[in-house]
Amino acid sequence: MSGSIVLFGPPGAGKGTQAGRIVKMTGKPQVSTGDMLRAAVSDGSDLGKEAKEYMDAGLLVPDSVIIGLIVERLKRTDASSGVLFDGFPRTIPQAEALESVANVIAVVSIEVPDDAIVDRIVGRRMDPETGDIYHVEYNPAPLEIEKRLIQRKDDTEETVRSRLLAYHKQTAPLADWYSEKGLLFSVDGNGTIDEVAESIRDSIVGI
Ligand code: ADP
Ligand code: ADP
Repeated sequence: MSGSIVLFGPPGAGKGTQAGRIVKMTGKPQVSTGDMLRAAVSDGSDLGKEAKEYMDAGLLVPDSVIIGLIVERLKRTDASSGVLFDGFPRTIPQAEALESVANVIAVVSIEVPDDAIVDRIVGRRMDPETGDIYHVEYNPAPLEIEKRLIQRKDDTEETVRSRLLAYHKQTAPLADWYSEKGLLFSVDGNGTIDEVAESIRDSIVGI
């Protein structure tokens, strides 16, 4: 299938966790604005320094910064038949900008209520070597890599509250925006990781 897929949902919904499986299924490269911003932060670039302030506060990074990153990323040849967007777009202006640089064929919304989100985010751990995502309780890492796992600086209970506020105010309205275009596929994000993966597969298999 030609065109891009958007993985949509609140912070901690499971977008990054599911992305790897969708990449395998569709062959489309994952484009995660969160990962791109974290790479810029660790490089210490000017963009990274600017973004860090927003990320640490649980606020969205300005649209102009994000749109610039995406436009550059989509110029790479691996993006020519579409990509899997993870964590982008997060505002209506971002979605509008996306319309002029990519053909979105499906928006998969992973639905998880706020009370489950805090637990998921506070228990999230990342493997800095592979980028794999784990959870202390729901998806524990193998013992041999447990020591090298890191916790994201913004994965605290306090920051999650700001991120959820930003989600409801600035990002959630995009669901209606995409629904009106007939592109929204909602899946229940409350099951196990495998169950959610199956619902996503079922929802996009025919597109
Ligand atoms: P997002 O990319 O949407 O922020 P992640 O994929 O990083 O979300 O998942 C957030 C946390 O929740 C991680 O610790 C992950 O292991 C865990 N998680 C993901 N999917 C599920 C699920 N279906 N059930 C329980 N925990 C999950
Ligand atoms: P999560 O899915 O847990 O919210 P992400 O890795 O997608 O985490 O994003 C981490 C942070 O990076 C966000 O809280 C926000 O500050 C910033 N960010 C990521 N993607 C975007 C975006 N599309 N627009 C604005 N800010 C973004």
